[in-house]
Amino acid sequence: MTPMSDVRFARGFVPAKADMGDWSQIEPLFDALDARPIGNVAQLEQWILDESELAACLSEEYNTRLVEMTCQTDDQAREQAYLHFVGEIQPRCKPRWHRLNQRYVSSPLRKQLPKQRYEVYDRRVVTAVELFREENVPLQTEDAKLDQQYQKICGAMTVEYQGREQTLQQMAKYQQEPDRRVRREAWELSAQRRLADRESIEEIFDRMIRLRSQIARNAGFDNFRDYQFKAYERFDYTPAHCYAFHEAIERTVVPVYRLIQERRRRQLGVERLRPWDLAVDPKGRPPLRPFNEVGELSAKCRTVFARLDPVLGEQFDGMIKAGWLDLESRKGKAPGGYQATFDESRHPFIFMNAVGLHRDVETLLHEGGHAFHCLACRDEPLLAYRHTPMEMAEVASMGMELLAGEHFDEFYEGDDLVRARREQLEGVISTFPWIAIVDAFQHWLYLHPAHTREQRTTCWLNLLGRFGGIEDWTGYELMHESMWQRQLHLFGVPFYYIEYGIAQIGALQLWRNIREDKTLAFRDGTDRHSLLAVHGRCRNSGRPPGSDSTSPRRPSAPWWRR
Ligand SMILES: [Zn+2]
Repeated sequence: MTPMSDVRFARGFVPAKADMGDWSQIEPLFDALDARPIGNVAQLEQWILDESELAACLSEEYNTRLVEMTCQTDDQAREQAYLHFVGEIQPRCKPRWHRLNQRYVSSPLRKQLPKQRYEVYDRRVVTAVELFREENVPLQTEDAKLDQQYQKICGAMTVEYQGREQTLQQMAKYQQEPDRRVRREAWELSAQRRLADRESIEEIFDRMIRLRSQIARNAGFDNFRDYQFKAYERFDYTPAHCYAFHEAIERTVVPVYRLIQERRRRQLGVERLRPWDLAVDPKGRPPLRPFNEVGELSAKCRTVFARLDPVLGEQFDGMIKAGWLDLESRKGKAPGGYQATFDESRHPFIFMNAVGLHRDVETLLHEGGHAFHCLACRDEPLLAYRHTPMEMAEVASMGMELLAGEHFDEFYEGDDLVRARREQLEGVISTFPWIAIVDAFQHWLYLHPAHTREQRTTCWLNLLGRFGGIEDWTGYELMHESMWQRQLHLFGVPFYYIEYGIAQIGALQLWRNIREDKTLAFRDGTDRHSLLAVHGRCRNSGRPPGSDSTSPRRPSAPWWRR
C-alpha cells in the first residue's frame, strides 16, 4: 500500500476485485446502472456518484497502461496492453457512456438537482449527448492509434554523438554549450534525424486531419474546429476571441520578444542569430547545472515546495516515497513530460526526461503544480469536478513555476541566480508568440481540411513570419518548414493550446498577488489552498520547441476521452 492510498477512496459500487481491463467484468456494471430504478433526487445523486466511480476506475486503468507504455515505448507487452484498452475496451465503453448520459438528460428529476452543485456537471453531460455519434467511435479509436504511432516514431529517434547513442532530449543539452561549433553540429544532427521521419509524420497528420474532419461532419458540424470548440466545452469564448488574442500578442508581445532576441544577438557578437544560438547563455557562460542526478533534482524541488508551504513539502515527499515520479531521460522512453492523475486512487504521477538542465527544474516545478492540484481535489466525490475546465488547468502549474522561481536560490547563487530568473521570465515572453502560432495554425488547418502539404507549409511559414523570432534559417529551410511536427499537441490533443495563453495570464496574476501579499495567493478566501484548489489537469507547458534546447512536454490524455 502506498503512503497516500486512502481507504476513503475504496470502491463502493465497482467490486473491489473487478478487472477494468476485462470487458466481461465491465459490462455488467454498465448494465446495472442502466437497469437501476431512479425514483427520487437522492437516488439520482447516488447513481451519478456510482457512474463517476466506474469512470474513475476505467480512467485509472487507462492511465496505468499509458504511463507504463510511455515509460518504455520499446516494450511490446506494454504497447499491447495499451492498445488492447484503446482498441477493445474504450470503443465498447463509449456507447455505454452515451446511453447513461442519455438516461440522465431525459430524467425529469435532473431539474430538481441543486443547481449550484450540478449546473456545470449538467452542462457537460448535455454537451456530450449532443456530440455523440456511434459512427465516430471507430474513427476516434483510429485517431488515438495514429497518435500512438507518432509517439513511437518520436520515441525511437536517436543519434550517434560524441561516441554514444543519444536521444534527442539528451542532445538538447548541447544547445547550451558556449562553443558555437558544438551547438551547430549537435543541432544539425538532431534536425537531420527528425527530417528522416518527416514523410511518415506528414502521412500520419494527413490521415488525422481527414479523420477529424469526418468526425465533425458526422456530428453535424461544418468543420473540426467548431466541433472541437464544443467538445472542449469552450462555453465562454469563440474563435473570434482567439483571433483577437493572436492580434494582441502580435501587437504587444512579439516586439518585446524580438528585442530580447536582438539583445542576444549583440551579446553573442554574431552577425546573424542562427537556430543553434537560441538557448546558449548570451554572455558565453557554461550552462546552468542545477543538479547532477535526478535524486538531487527532486530533493531540491522538495525544499522549494516546502518553503512555499510546509504542506506542499510533505506532499511532495510522499510522492517521492511512493515512487510516483519517473524523471530521467533514457532510450525508449516517450519524449516530453506530463503529470497523470490516477483517478481511482486519486494520486498524481509525474513523467519527464531530465538531463540536468535548468529547464528540467522548471518542468518538475510545473508538473509539481499539477500534482498538488490533484492532491487538493482528492476529497471531491465527483470525478468531473476533480478535473478542471481546461483554461484553468495550467494555472496551478504555470503559477507554481513563477511562485517557485522566488526560491531558485536552492539551485543557484550569485550571477547564476539572476540568470535563471531572467531565463524564466524571458521564457514567459516567448511562450505567447508560440501559442499564437500553434493556435492559428490549427484554425487554418481545420478550416481548410482539403489543403495540400505545400499549402500547409506555406501557412506555417507565414505564421512564423508573423509571430516568430529573428533567427536566420537560411540553408535549413526543410527543418524550418517542418518544425510543427515537434509539437505533440497537434497530434494528441488537437486545438488544446490557446489554454496555455489564458493560463499564463492567470499565472502572472497569481505571481503578482504573491509578490504583493504572500497570504493572498495561497489562501485567498477559500477554505484551503486556493492555488491548489485551482483545478488542474495533467498537461504541459506551451513553450516553443524553437530550438533543440526545449523538449516539448507531452500532455496526458484528457479524462473525458475515457
Ligand atoms: Zn501543465
